[in-house]
Amino acid sequence: MQERSRALAWLCVLALVLASCAARQPGDPLRPGFNLYSVDDDIEIGRMVSDQADEELDIVGDPALQDYIAELGRRLASDARTGPFPYTFALVRDDSINAFALPGGPIYIHTGLVAAAANEAQLAGVMAHEISHVALRHGTSQASRASLLQIPAILASEVLGQASVGAQAGQLGLSLGLSSVLLNYSRNAEREADALGARVMAEAGYDPIEMAAFFETLEAEGGARGPEFLASHPSPGNRTATVRAEIQTFPSSGPYTASTGRFGTIRQAVVRLNEGQ
Ligand code: ZN
Repeated sequence: MQERSRALAWLCVLALVLASCAARQPGDPLRPGFNLYSVDDDIEIGRMVSDQADEELDIVGDPALQDYIAELGRRLASDARTGPFPYTFALVRDDSINAFALPGGPIYIHTGLVAAAANEAQLAGVMAHEISHVALRHGTSQASRASLLQIPAILASEVLGQASVGAQAGQLGLSLGLSSVLLNYSRNAEREADALGARVMAEAGYDPIEMAAFFETLEAEGGARGPEFLASHPSPGNRTATVRAEIQTFPSSGPYTASTGRFGTIRQAVVRLNEGQ
């Protein structure tokens, strides 16, 4: 292909990306957006990064705590809206209020976040929100958008057509480890993860408004630096109102009675871990 027609093709892609940014109405279907990677790439990238993360992070050794998180995650991820991803859930001993998802399914929850949640629905809400970032492929979508800013370099090397995922990731400036390109979301991605997360929560029997309530609590408690969670998940604003509008479009409005009945005990054990006991 000639240089000029290639450039034209990329301009078309750019136009499509911009068109996909049009405002979404509550209840509109949520689908993964523009992405240069395949679903299998997401899974492969997630595995590579999680292998490294598992070594670097302080994964909680208590099987009762890990089983609780995994069981909660599995219930949420059993919804068909969460896509074809092999989700895994790990509790990390870290008293900062944070949680993150890698492309393709690995999800990490900090003990600080469990300790900060007021009830199981709030924890389920953060997990449903993280699952939604995976299902909507926000990490690799953002990496794809970032790569559009490097169009001349990509045109020069035609790397996307030929190289392996690892080489592509290198070309796009993604280092292994917890890449900021993969983990820092736009406000639009946050709105989408709130909307899909609310639906996933509701289907599992948790009151979706608890997710918005938890995020607003974190924002209110922000202080000078704010919880780590808000650095990688910037507030789209008016979360409660947006989630309420979304809930209005759900086929059922509860009652939301899901609970394992174990949250209080689990939270106490997690608080003891955070206090070094
Ligand atoms: Zn988020």
